[in-house]
Amino acid sequence: MSRIKFYNTMTKKVEEFVPNVEGKVSLYTCGPTVYHFAHIGNLRCYIMEDILDRTLRYAGYDVKRVMNITDVGHLTSDADTGDDKMVEGAKREHKTVMEIAKYYTDAFFSDCEKLNIRRPDVIEPATNCIPEFIHMIEVLLEKGYAYKAGENIYFDTSKLDKYYTLTNSSDDDLMVAVRDDVDEDVNKRNKADFVLWFTKSKFEDQALKWDSPWGVGYPGWHIECSCISMKHLGEKLDIHCGGIDNIFPHHTNEIAQSESFLGHKWCNYWFHVHHLNEKGGKMSKSKGEFLTVSLLESKGYDPIVYRMFCLQSHYRKPLEFSYDVMDNMKSAYEKLLKTAARIKENANDGEVDNGVFASFKDRFLDALGNDFNTSMALTVLYEALKADTNNATKYAIIKDFDTVLCLNLDKEVEKEGIDSELEAYILKKIEERKEAKKNKDFATADAIRDELAAKGIVLKDTREGTTYTIG
Ligand code: AMP
Ligand code: ZN
Repeated sequence: MSRIKFYNTMTKKVEEFVPNVEGKVSLYTCGPTVYHFAHIGNLRCYIMEDILDRTLRYAGYDVKRVMNITDVGHLTSDADTGDDKMVEGAKREHKTVMEIAKYYTDAFFSDCEKLNIRRPDVIEPATNCIPEFIHMIEVLLEKGYAYKAGENIYFDTSKLDKYYTLTNSSDDDLMVAVRDDVDEDVNKRNKADFVLWFTKSKFEDQALKWDSPWGVGYPGWHIECSCISMKHLGEKLDIHCGGIDNIFPHHTNEIAQSESFLGHKWCNYWFHVHHLNEKGGKMSKSKGEFLTVSLLESKGYDPIVYRMFCLQSHYRKPLEFSYDVMDNMKSAYEKLLKTAARIKENANDGEVDNGVFASFKDRFLDALGNDFNTSMALTVLYEALKADTNNATKYAIIKDFDTVLCLNLDKEVEKEGIDSELEAYILKKIEERKEAKKNKDFATADAIRDELAAKGIVLKDTREGTTYTIG
């Protein structure tokens, strides 16, 4: 029996996870639209998807995770209206679309690294896969699921028995959702139809265009995830994830086109992360304070404090960001690091008690396997730190749990709580002193030793090199 159960948006139930192929998981993640920095709301989504990914690995599955990078086709409204987000970004910064894409893709993965989000096994920009998109659209046209109107190619949702698979929405809801300031697309035969391929009939200033059987143009947004997923993970997908705003229309459209193309069921489990909100409502890149990882760092927060902030709450509940809660989290995190450091220092006090280790590991996996109850998983960690067992066992538990939690409990412990900036400073000074001594400039060497001593940092020259102690 599987140890992992989680909420499947498709069935609206918490279900036991059973992959298509025993022991293996194909996992697809909707990646960022790289027209701007990710805000910490976007990153909540990627942190919780990282927990999904790491928990599956922790439970022994061989996971292959694929993520797309949206560098073309995503309009300001998810329903094919408004301007292209990439073109908007390029205009804003007086750069080309590809320059913008490269810059914000790098920035995204740098944020992910700071938050200990594991890099997906495959990362594929949409602009790499134009031939695959064209092929899928050709098949959809051949099978009668798509039509040409006003020089664009549309998916015909009326050809499906059931289009609203993931939601209880209807065409009536769609009418309401149409923004007042956006003209309705008169080419669509049905309200819910969506664009597979745009041609020059729309957005004359579109920067990236490709030749296609229907004229020079560019793909709609939804087609990329179906194609990129199938390219790397085959015709049967185990888990597809994203934020709740992706449920409709993006994932609904992905299912429509994928299953029409394949002629069979495509993805079994749908995992969706709820939003991070600000006091005033939905987090946005255009209004209020644009909350990024760099902004948190500039305010003195280690990005991992934000990871812990996210882990304290359940991924299926909206979460409200506040600096007050971040401050509480910061002190809780610092305390946790100190406790872990103390345990590590004394970890050679005996053998690991395998029975105790296994029972905590069991409880930890139970918490995570129960719809990714990360706050319960943290509680199990805290209980292990207080448990009536030796430090060797506690230290083994810390290292084991941190392969999923990724709070740098061991890494920070190795530095014995010294912050990395201070460490870098000391190492730089030691290097400068070594150089001075090599040049027989003993006055400078002594001055460096005194400068450090004044800060309570004592250098000791050994045969292996210079070491230091603090305090
Ligand atoms: P985007 O770069 O706009 O395509 O969004 C990247 C991911 O972030 C998507 O999976 C969205 O569903 C998700 N997302 C967008 N806004 C939020 C938010 N406020 N909180 C959590 N996730 C979000
Ligand atoms: Zn997607």
